[in-house]
Amino acid sequence: MKPRFTALKGVADVLPPETGLWRKIENTACLVMGAYGYEEIRPPVMEQTGLFLRSIGGSSDIVAKEMYTFTDKGERSVSLRPEGTASIVRAYVEHNLSSRPAPQKFFYSGPMFRYERPQKGRQRQFYQLGAECFGIADPGVDAEMIIMLMAFLDRLGLKGLSLELNSIGCKECRPAFRERLREFFAPRLGELCPDCQRRYEQNPLRILDCKVERCGEIRKGSPLISETLCQDCREHFTALLEFLDVMGTAYVFNPHMVRGLDYYTRTVFEVKGGACMGAQNAVAAGGRYDLLVSEFGGPETPAIGFAAGMERLAGLLQGEAVTPGPALFIASLGKEAAVEALKLASRLREGGTRVELGWGGFSLKSQLRRADKIGAGNVVIIGEDELKSGSFKWKNLKDGSSGEAGREDIFAQFSQAK
Ligand SMILES: [Zn+2]
Ligand SMILES: [Zn+2]
Repeated sequence: MKPRFTALKGVADVLPPETGLWRKIENTACLVMGAYGYEEIRPPVMEQTGLFLRSIGGSSDIVAKEMYTFTDKGERSVSLRPEGTASIVRAYVEHNLSSRPAPQKFFYSGPMFRYERPQKGRQRQFYQLGAECFGIADPGVDAEMIIMLMAFLDRLGLKGLSLELNSIGCKECRPAFRERLREFFAPRLGELCPDCQRRYEQNPLRILDCKVERCGEIRKGSPLISETLCQDCREHFTALLEFLDVMGTAYVFNPHMVRGLDYYTRTVFEVKGGACMGAQNAVAAGGRYDLLVSEFGGPETPAIGFAAGMERLAGLLQGEAVTPGPALFIASLGKEAAVEALKLASRLREGGTRVELGWGGFSLKSQLRRADKIGAGNVVIIGEDELKSGSFKWKNLKDGSSGEAGREDIFAQFSQAK
């Protein structure tokens, strides 16, 4: 018995025609974000484990349970990236990009890794597309990024999405909020799930994010960060909302929203919904992280970013996944005709026309059957007679029209076909 390999659990192949959707999503991102001055960055998929411990925070589920961490042959602790921001901040500091004029704007797309229980819509290797903007604290930058994200989703043709926003404060005002949360949860600490009991000590904000039903019950009526925001945070958030109002960007203020990662400050946002998925599922999410660059030894640098799940975006676009057949199928009989077919195909392909050839020495009938199966728009037949006369038969398989033409006329006729 020869071994038969399958992909690892929770690690999926993305196959055509779905890859066509992924290409469309990435191309659209490139186009829309390019207009906003974002340039592509491609950080590595693995980093020193310490990078994620420091950036994402030990109290997060990601670091506590879900990281793909291993020791390499040099006895270094290495982790596959569970998200994109940490690597980009590391690159920003490592390459001294703060010396370039602000803002520095990047987008990225690629695989992320989290060791989760595989379930519908959740893979251990999943793909995110995101953007980061460094160097400007102005709330206008928050507004601009959110408007760009919504423009991107709109350009993809996604409908029924809702944008939710909150401010989770800064290092001045958040400690007081943490204390208020601890006071609130203290009497019922024993009833919280084990994760939340750990969060209570490390970062009680994360209790607000817990998916366990009982924790959801216990946190009803808990204090809201909006009540404890400092003057600067309050002004920042108000200014952001004013920009969005002026631009007609619809949003919902969600005072309960906190984000799963410890490094966020001030603005946090999520885009939820979409026709074929639960309203709870975020299509994209992000926020401001004004302290992270300096945490990594860089200069104090305000920053903001977001990430969108490729699988979710592709899921929303499902149904559009069709690969059109080739514009032309050239059936040939005999070696000489095959050479003629290859020459004609090469010329047409140079111009971008998709052409398939009837390789394999099969009968004309079986070649034509194959042309039909792959959805070819047209066929051209080259046999011995055609080679002699220099005139080739063609047929349009969509409307049934047909005719005969010389080599150059055939080339001209199909050189525009896509
Ligand atoms: Zn504040
Ligand atoms: Zn909990």
